[in-house]
Amino acid sequence: MSDAPLLRARGIRKAFGDHQVLRGVDLDVRRGQVIALIGPSGSGKTTMLRSLNGLATPEAGTLELDGGPSIDFAATVPKEQRLALRDRSAMVFQHHNLFPHLTVLQNVTEGPVQVRRVPRAQAEARGLELLGRVGLADKRDAYPRELSGGQQQRVGIVRALALGPDLLLFDEPTSALDPELVGEVLGVMKELAEEGWTMVVVTHELSFARAVADEVLFLDGGVVAERGAPRDLFTNPREERTRQFLHRIL
Ligand code: ADP
Repeated sequence: MSDAPLLRARGIRKAFGDHQVLRGVDLDVRRGQVIALIGPSGSGKTTMLRSLNGLATPEAGTLELDGGPSIDFAATVPKEQRLALRDRSAMVFQHHNLFPHLTVLQNVTEGPVQVRRVPRAQAEARGLELLGRVGLADKRDAYPRELSGGQQQRVGIVRALALGPDLLLFDEPTSALDPELVGEVLGVMKELAEEGWTMVVVTHELSFARAVADEVLFLDGGVVAERGAPRDLFTNPREERTRQFLHRIL
């Protein structure tokens, strides 16, 4: 078996107009690992996350999936490579983006049935099992507006899981929630990490990153200013700008 990372990104660069947002970011994600991206607002965390599944298109850099052929963003990326990128991962957004006119179970089964062509009965059985795991099986027929923000975000997580991705991408999944609802969502994410899901998480929840991540990347100004195991980065940062960031936020 190859020991290539599930995802290897090298030299990712992305500009919006003349604003260079990512200036060459490297990232390796190994199976079962949880990587946290932290850093000041505007440092490029979300853009980096979106580059990993093709929602953002970098103008330079490479991505390798599972030791497969390199996707070179400086060239025109073939459609099948773009689709492969998107198929391997599932994103949980800051706002859950559930369909308001569909029930919880319909929201969860829509992707597998429409996109992955899973038979409906099979998608529903899997959806119910996953809803049960986040404590929401009894909400299967509820509509999103009938749920709390935390419950909606847990459904958003189940919707991502139901796609059967290799990689889960979280874009500040708790930052739009009332403070008292944050814990239940972080709790589900912690359980997923313990179950061995591979995750990249953009977060301002530093205590979560510290407790759950295997590696933390501190982005500042579109570069990885520091990376390391959480116990090193949080307790003994090497870089002055990491120290200042942690000092401001903790
Ligand atoms: P972070 O997640 O660290 O807050 P982002 O990756 O969201 O940072 O954004 C980095 C910078 O890129 C910000 O200045 C933001 O305004 C800009 N940006 C992000 N997305 C777009 C876009 N679609 N068009 C123009 N500018 C964008």
